[in-house]
Amino acid sequence: MATVVSFFQINTYDQGGPQLLTPADASRLDPTIWSDLYEERAAHRQFDGGYPRVEAELLAWREIEWRWHFAHREPVPAEVCAGCGQLIGADEALDLIDGARVHMKGHRCRIAYEQRWRPAASSALVALGLQPPGPIGSRCARQVCPTPS
Ligand SMILES: [Zn+2]
Repeated sequence: MATVVSFFQINTYDQGGPQLLTPADASRLDPTIWSDLYEERAAHRQFDGGYPRVEAELLAWREIEWRWHFAHREPVPAEVCAGCGQLIGADEALDLIDGARVHMKGHRCRIAYEQRWRPAASSALVALGLQPPGPIGSRCARQVCPTPS
C-alpha cells in the first residue's frame, strides 16, 4: 500500500522532532497548489477558528509566505547570521526552525532576516498569480468580504 504524503503533513517520526514536509520539486511552482493552500487556510481560520474573513485571509497569507520561504529558502552557512551576514558563535546564536541562525541579542537580526524573506516570498506568490489580502481593490473587496460601512 502506498503512503500518501500531504503537502502539509508534519513528520513526527524522525528523531529530530516534527518537520514540515515540502512538496516535490515539480509542484513547488504549481500556482494551483499555493492558491488552494491559501484558500483552504483562510477558510479554516474563518469557519473553524471564528476569525472574520479579512483577518482569516491575512493570517493565511502569512502562513503561505512562511511555507513558500520554507520550500524555497536558500541555506545560510551555520557560521553566518542570516540577519546581518556576520559570523556567529554558538553561544550567541538563535537556531530558527528553517535551519537559519541569527544573533539572539535584541532580536534585531531575526527581524532583519524576516524582513528579507517575507517580501521575497510574497512577491513570488504574487508572480504565481495569487493575490494577497488587502483593503479596497483587493480580492477581499471583490469577492468575499463584507463591504465596510
Ligand atoms: Zn546577526
